This record gives sequence, structure tokens and C-alpha cells, in this order.
Amino acid sequence: MLRISGLIKLTNSLHEEFFRCSRLEGKEYQAAIQSSRDDILALTTSIHKKLSAYDSPLNQLTSPARQAYLWLAYLVEEDHLEQHCRSLARAARAFQTALPRKQNFDIRFYNCKYTYSIHHNSQSVHATLHEGFIYAPDSVFNEIVKTLKKNASAKNNPVIKAFIATRPFQNCYTQLNPSLKPKKIHIQGAFHDLNASFERVNRKYFNNKLEKPTLTWSARRTYRTMGCYDVTKDILTVSRSLDHQTVSLHTLDFIMYHELLHKYFGTKSVNGRHISHSARFREAEKSFEHFQQAAQELQRISQEEKKRQSRR
Ligand SMILES: [Zn+2]
Repeated sequence: MLRISGLIKLTNSLHEEFFRCSRLEGKEYQAAIQSSRDDILALTTSIHKKLSAYDSPLNQLTSPARQAYLWLAYLVEEDHLEQHCRSLARAARAFQTALPRKQNFDIRFYNCKYTYSIHHNSQSVHATLHEGFIYAPDSVFNEIVKTLKKNASAKNNPVIKAFIATRPFQNCYTQLNPSLKPKKIHIQGAFHDLNASFERVNRKYFNNKLEKPTLTWSARRTYRTMGCYDVTKDILTVSRSLDHQTVSLHTLDFIMYHELLHKYFGTKSVNGRHISHSARFREAEKSFEHFQQAAQELQRISQEEKKRQSRR
């Protein structure tokens, strides 16, 4: 087991910080978010470095440390941190309006193992809601306080139940509770060779400077997403749909190039939002030698694959 010192302590101080942030506005708010993001990024990057030496990294952490790490990594992705703080402010408003003045409360969104839990007595309320609740509309927060006041069980509350079944909640829940079995790696293609594609692209566009990520074909054929790069695991996946004799090497290399650019640039935060396809990224992408040709071929492959799958 890998010991990460200060991890749980940081999550606790972040909860307090976020609750404080949720009452700020404008520049103050942006600055507070940016500084939290910097703290989180520094910690997750260092954990990631330690973990990357292992074949099944997440298994190296104790269960509470794993929940905390996955939560932090989620927060610094895209605009999740912003969404987190905005929703915390909405939830706080709902609680404030409904609870008597003398009752103090605090609310946390966290990667907990349950959907939510609330402890309360006449003086205080402590609510821990799963991170997926950052996508809840106000009506859900209102309903949570209502059940709390009535001392009713929320389990069968139809509004809360319906929200938990929605895509945004479920997607977040799945991402934060990933299967601990290592992802299957399919390195061998039927027609194309990912290693060779990596070598070509690395030589031509990155001066052979990029370290090779784990390369794999996707398990299934796809038509929407032709590739993806997983920063936390350093795995680059190329869609099985491109492993065909009619697919040119340019097009395969173009996807390889696009995904490697993600590795090269990382994700950047602008005003607290996370940008993966920045202007610089798009600029670099266009410098691919057969850009137009590859883009057209990808469109064709994607359309044909979509047709093929709809016929089944
Ligand atoms: Zn991309």
C-alpha cells in the first residue's frame, strides 16, 4: 500500500474552503477557486507520479485514499470545480431558507460510497452528498431539506430518486467508482500497428521527445470517438474502427497525433475552467501534414460505421 501523507487532511480543509468560496463573488471567488485548483493539481500530479510505477495503480491506495484521490482528480477536470462551488452555493441557499436560524449547517459534495447522508440535531446539520449532486437542480436540494425537516426517509422520495437515475449523476458516480480490474490492453491490430504509428508521429512532430504512453485499440468499434487519452493512467486508446485496410496511415497517424497533443499540452485552466482543446492545441493540430485529407476520411469512416451499427 502506498501512503500519501496529508491527503485526507487536504480534502477536509478543501471542504471548508469550498463552503467559504460558495459565498464569494467576482474576482475574489475566481482567485479562491484558482488557488484551490493549484493545490489540488499539485497534489494529484505528485500522487499520479508515484502511482505510475505500478501496473494497477488504484489498487495501491487504501480505500479512503482512493476515494479522495479520484475525487480530487475529478475536481480539476474540465469545469467540475466551478460546478462544485456553484452548486454548493445553491444547496446552501436551499438549506438556509428552510432551516431555522439557530440551526447551523454544513454541506459537502464528496466521493462518498453512499448517495448521501445527513446527521442532524436541534443545533446543527451535517450533510454529505455524493459529488454527483453537483448536477442536481434546486428542486432536489429543496426536497432533501424537506425530508430532513419531516424526519422522513429520503430513500423513497420520488424527486431525489429520479435525479439519482439521471445520466449526469450516474456518469459521475461511475467515474468516481471505477472498476479496479486493470483495463485490458489490445496492442495487436489486425491491419495497423499502433507502435509504428507512435514512432512515426513522435519522430515527425515531437522530435522523438514524447515518452510512449500505453497504447491500445478500443475493445469495440466506435463512430463518435476515434481516440482518447487518459491522463491519469497515461493510456492512449485508438478506436478499433481505424484498424482496417481501407483506413490510410495518415488518418491513423492523425488520431495518434491528436491524442498525443493531449499528452503534450495537458489540460489548461483558464478562469477556473478546464480547456483541453485550447487555441494553441487547435493551431498545433492543423500543422499535421495531411490535416484536411485525414479529417475528411475520418468523417467518412464515422458515417459508415454509424450506418453499419444501425443495420444490426
Ligand atoms: Zn481531443
